[in-house]
Order: sequence, then C-alpha cells, then structure tokens
Amino acid sequence: MSVQQRPIRMKTLGKGPRKVLFVGGIHGDETEGAYTTDELPKAFLDANLADAVTLTILEDVNPDGRAARTRDNANGVDINRNFPANNFDQSNGGTPLSQPESQALSATIDRVQPNLILVMHSWAGKEFVNFDGPAQEVAERFADIAHLPVEASSEFAPTPGSLGSYTGRDRGIPILTVELLKGSDSAQDWERIRTALLQAIAG
Ligand SMILES: [Zn+2]
Repeated sequence: MSVQQRPIRMKTLGKGPRKVLFVGGIHGDETEGAYTTDELPKAFLDANLADAVTLTILEDVNPDGRAARTRDNANGVDINRNFPANNFDQSNGGTPLSQPESQALSATIDRVQPNLILVMHSWAGKEFVNFDGPAQEVAERFADIAHLPVEASSEFAPTPGSLGSYTGRDRGIPILTVELLKGSDSAQDWERIRTALLQAIAG
C-alpha cells in the first residue's frame, strides 16, 4: 500500500525460467506508460511467452503521485531516488527505502530475482531508451526495433538513489528505462514499442 493507502497492484503471468519485472510507472506525473501496461498481458500471452518467461507486472509504484499528478509520492519523496544505491544522497529527503512504495518495489525485486527489469517513464521534448548495468545490448536491440536512441544514464543527469543505480550498477541486474515522449499518443507508443518490448522480455 502507498502512503495514502492506495494499493500497489502486481500481476504475474507465465511460469517460465526467465524472470522479467515490468514497472508501469514510478513518477506520478509520467502516465504515458499506463496504456502499454494495460496492453502488455494480452500481448505477452498472444506471443506464447508463458512457458519461457515469468513476467511480473507492477502496474504503478506511485499511485498517490498519479492521483495528485506529482512526480513524488505523498510524502514529497521521489521514489526513484529512494533506493539504497552506492550513489544515494539526501537531496531528495529521507533515507534509503524510507517509503512504502520503494519498499514494495525492493521486496518484489528480492522475491522475483529478475533477469531483466523494464521501467516506463516519460520525458519532455525527447524520447529514448536508457539503461543501467549489463543491459547495453538489450537496450540497443530495443532501440533498433522501436526506432529510439539509446542514452546511458551518465550522459544526461545524476540519478542518486535511482532504481537503475541500485539494481543495474550496484547489483548487476540489467535494467531498461523507456522514456516516452511526454504528452504523446499512448496507443501509438504502444504500437511502436510493442515488438521491442516483447523481444526484450523473451530475451
Ligand atoms: Zn521519470
């Protein structure tokens, strides 16, 4: 449950040995990934991936932020800066994993032990795929299929305590961040990234 007691919903599909964690949203004012999150379960099953992959979908890690249309959670903390990464700093307030939303995501990662994490975000003025950890190849293939540029995290902004810093850089779990264009047409986005997403999930 979130700070304001909204449920953080999770869904598991398939029963394959490859584990993939998909996170539909973590910044409340970046809702562009919601449509893709809704469409993904059917596409996953239609692609016959259920025997090869166990797909865990966290619909939205920040439901309070989404309800209030804010980047941060109800305590004013950026969930994506609240992970116990080596580069954590207190500029965003609090201590690592001080928020129920980051705790829920962290516990899910520990339980699922994913081979790949995919996270949906959006960005004003540009769209791209970003990665942390050993995910350059996955990112490049994704970008190729979806016709998006790849940017390494270090190229655009410091991200202390981010999910990517924590899981990708520190724990060595490949993580792909899909930055859709803010305000874009979600149905068109889905058509464009669908194949790339399924390829990444299939591995
Ligand atoms: Zn974001």
